[in-house]
Amino acid sequence: MTLNPTRTGFLPVLRRMGAEVDVEETGEDAEPRGDLVVRGSSLRSTVIEGREVPTLLDEIPLLAVAAARAEGVTRIRGAGELRLKESDRLAAVAANLRAIGVSVEEYSDGLEIEGTDRPLSGRVDTYGDHRVEMAFGVLAATPGTELEIAGPPAAAVSFPGFWDTLSRLTAGAVAAPGPVRAAGRRPVVTIDGPAGSGKSTTARTVAERLGLVHLDSGALYRAITLATLRSGVTDDELATLTPQAWRDFGVGVGAKGGRLEVRIGGSAVPDADLRSPEVTARVSRVAALPSVRECLFDLQRSAAAQGGLVADGRDMGTIVFPDADVKVFLTADLEERARRRLLETGGALEDADGITGAAAELQRRDFQDTHREHSPLRLPEGAVVIDTTDRTLDEQIAEVIRLVRAAESAHGA
Ligand code: C5P
Repeated sequence: MTLNPTRTGFLPVLRRMGAEVDVEETGEDAEPRGDLVVRGSSLRSTVIEGREVPTLLDEIPLLAVAAARAEGVTRIRGAGELRLKESDRLAAVAANLRAIGVSVEEYSDGLEIEGTDRPLSGRVDTYGDHRVEMAFGVLAATPGTELEIAGPPAAAVSFPGFWDTLSRLTAGAVAAPGPVRAAGRRPVVTIDGPAGSGKSTTARTVAERLGLVHLDSGALYRAITLATLRSGVTDDELATLTPQAWRDFGVGVGAKGGRLEVRIGGSAVPDADLRSPEVTARVSRVAALPSVRECLFDLQRSAAAQGGLVADGRDMGTIVFPDADVKVFLTADLEERARRRLLETGGALEDADGITGAAAELQRRDFQDTHREHSPLRLPEGAVVIDTTDRTLDEQIAEVIRLVRAAESAHGA
């Protein structure tokens, strides 16, 4: 590539953002030339303004998508000229970033982009502009991103073979822009079922593979239960707590990679604490209380506000997301579920008493979960039942992914 210093202003900016980019000079014809060697690294935000802007004007769409993946808010100013290119590039970049869940402020001469490590998904448009198209093509090739790129293809204006190269580098995962499709919104998928049916593992893996966010609602009920134990609330006192008292425990979720991490008072909660025998023994009792369900309802709904989600629990498809695009109900024989639970908790399958104990625990929770008055575990209307007794985890995951893809293509057709 050219190393003409009037065209390489984006390199120091990328380095400032924490990128590891080395230049290997390969010689000179009309101007100095070289190869770039780039190593993966995490990025931080920066300010792009003033005299450096003319040296990187064309690369601002690319820097803007890098900013979407950098920690913090990146400010770009003094770039009003971008409104007069093949497209209004500031407006195009802002609209595309917003369409996939990134917060962007647009100014007459720039952008402010709030970086995020959440999965990004949705449909973006090329606006018939090669720079916009290629910038979002590069973003589409990064992990945790699932973009549908629509609009007139234009990359060949400056880089014939761009899409072939990108498709080769990503083993076919990223495709050239297709025709504009009606679908844009990512699906909401619910997975309900009894304890030990493999919901959480299935939901987590499906979310990872499809670039969706995973909400483990059971972990929320476990967290609020843990909070009662930490505060020394006795079994008898549980029913006397007010809705405000439940809220004051401060159970919430925060984005962490592709996951929604469960927090108490802003701090992440170790999985081992959430799954301790004390929490497991109490959780169904806590989850049956109407004030607890009310307290966690909005939290769960707002988790889906920004786009695609795979939510697993007991009332995901019935109460929390009754309009979900795909509803699954996972189930398995009690004995098989008890075996899985025993293995999960470090037990051995030869331990007959262990299996009996695990089965009793599951049965007790299932009884409470299906017989409570509020949001009992039920088969949601329109749910596909998958009996996993004789299936491997991989098979049930593949089946759910097939259902989601089928719904997405029906939606986009
Ligand atoms: O899925 P997990 O076993 O972690 O859930 C723990 C408990 O939380 C369940 O037994 C149930 O009582 C409660 N729960 C619920 N509604 C949900 C998810 C879990 O009542 N949506």
